[in-house]
Amino acid sequence: MIENKFSLENYVRPTMVLPDNKKNLLLHSCCAPCAGEIMEALIKSNIHPTIYFYNPNIHPIEEYKIRKNENKRFCKKLGLDFIDADYDKDNWFERIKGLENEPERGKRCSQCFDMRFERSALFASENNFDLFATTLGISRWKDMNQINSSGLRAAKRYSGVDYWDFNWRKKGGSLRMIEISKREKFYQQEYCGCVYSLRDSNKWRKENNRDRIIRGIKFYN
Ligand code: SF4
Repeated sequence: MIENKFSLENYVRPTMVLPDNKKNLLLHSCCAPCAGEIMEALIKSNIHPTIYFYNPNIHPIEEYKIRKNENKRFCKKLGLDFIDADYDKDNWFERIKGLENEPERGKRCSQCFDMRFERSALFASENNFDLFATTLGISRWKDMNQINSSGLRAAKRYSGVDYWDFNWRKKGGSLRMIEISKREKFYQQEYCGCVYSLRDSNKWRKENNRDRIIRGIKFYN
């Protein structure tokens, strides 16, 4: 069997440093699977981010609670602070009005990222964080440029807060993300988060003769 030099077992994590002599990182997190590899990489370099869970895009609320609690559980295990931010879904729906039929990675997602990062940047600014980043970009389903553009836009609103556009996918980041998810038996969500992504994922499944998504039952193993 060919050894994978980027697997958890073989990879020697390089020491990371925050950019531009920044000291205090706020890490916006979307879910435990995306956050796991990033949290472990940072801790290995003695960087202890505060995790900021602000995701009013996740529906319905039962799904939101599962994803949040998985993330909370892993924070507790690693000893990181977890900020449980608002679930202001009504504002999310208001902001997304007119974009309900946009495809994933389209204009609706830009608004969704903007909303989540604007709040993250505000929290960073009000709580002495000089840097924020997000776990969203580690997923290969996402458009990293779209995410980073949103992050940079949000950071521009506050002096003293920068956005860190580190590429967490490279050097096996996505592979280790799956390895950690399996090791921790994280909940495995099957759609991005909003009702529209659930609708579209189920539509695709129907067209491809696959069963509809049943929420709340799938875990990595
Ligand atoms: S598909 Fe995902 S990123 Fe796009 S609007 Fe829905 S929840 Fe947000």
